[in-house]
Amino acid sequence: MKNGPDWESQPFLLLHQTRFFAEETGGLIHCGLCPRGCSIKSGNFGACRVRGNKKGRGIIPFYGFASALAMDPIEKKPLYHFLPGSAILSLGFTGCNLRCPFCQNWRISQDTDIQGRYMKPKEVVSAALRENSPSIAYTYSEPLVHAEYLLDCMSVAHKHGIANVLVSNGCVKAEAAGEILSLTDAANIDLKCFSPETYSKILGGDLQTVLEFIALAFKTGVHVEISTLVVPDLNDTEEELDRCADFIAGRPETPWHLAAYHPDYRWNAPPTDPAFLLRTAGRAREKLRYVYTGNIPAEQNDTPCPHCGAILVRRRAYRVDAGGLVSPAGGERFYRCAACGGKTDISG
Ligand code: SF4
Ligand code: SF4
Repeated sequence: MKNGPDWESQPFLLLHQTRFFAEETGGLIHCGLCPRGCSIKSGNFGACRVRGNKKGRGIIPFYGFASALAMDPIEKKPLYHFLPGSAILSLGFTGCNLRCPFCQNWRISQDTDIQGRYMKPKEVVSAALRENSPSIAYTYSEPLVHAEYLLDCMSVAHKHGIANVLVSNGCVKAEAAGEILSLTDAANIDLKCFSPETYSKILGGDLQTVLEFIALAFKTGVHVEISTLVVPDLNDTEEELDRCADFIAGRPETPWHLAAYHPDYRWNAPPTDPAFLLRTAGRAREKLRYVYTGNIPAEQNDTPCPHCGAILVRRRAYRVDAGGLVSPAGGERFYRCAACGGKTDISG
């Protein structure tokens, strides 16, 4: 039985050959793109439902398949310290190598038999130019399992002066990670918990791979922000969230987005307690300069200047006032504070 859509009967599926780590033995394709290391029989897909085996060839039938294309506030990614207040063209994919039971995008991440359309990389970039979007986000489900298309699209975007933003679970091995991060300008990477067992047994991922991906992103010079969805009965203990904060504190200027969960897909625990989320954020602020909360009422997510304390960016949901910032001058990467002139931790 097939574990993905029937590629013979769906005209949008392009049988593009895989580049990454596909080896064939006895008709089986062994994919090493991510730590799942699927061995895929002919006619089937790997666990991500994106990468398949057609008669002994590693195939990505979803090359260029866009499940969504929309302009969003960049704060929605969430990215708070990169091009603040800008709009970003957001390209959605399909499928995912993880199987988070609380996935809030499960309709496109856990099912690839969905509506969408084929878009060449240059069409995506043309759309960004038409919309005056300074950046493109690769998002909604997991872009990394579309590594070949991602690299093609990112290269064309850079040729046209458009920045690449990756919104990802960070769970691929080093070779693909290195190539993709070398074309990435900013990334929001999930750190879903700090338990190797939870990553492997419940989410289908690998904590160490994610930690290495984050470290490589820093080393490559990518602007990095980290997201953690606080999910009751999964990661909502002070100890576990403090361990996440301790890891991020290796770079204390890294923004950490702590978001409240609501029941979805296969997880029925009650929504995250806002008071717990705020307490966790308060503790993390003892180690990290910027901790933001999401999906709770009355969020106070302003960014102060690290030098004089003046408000650089005011945020009320997705209403953003970046009037406290002065844009980077020629060749500079970081904005400056309008009040004291100091270099901020916000880049453009
Ligand atoms: S990328 Fe997909 S096919 Fe490859 S190992 Fe990961 S889940 Fe399996
Ligand atoms: S990594 Fe993200 S898209 Fe994939 S299953 Fe988990 S929450 Fe959903």
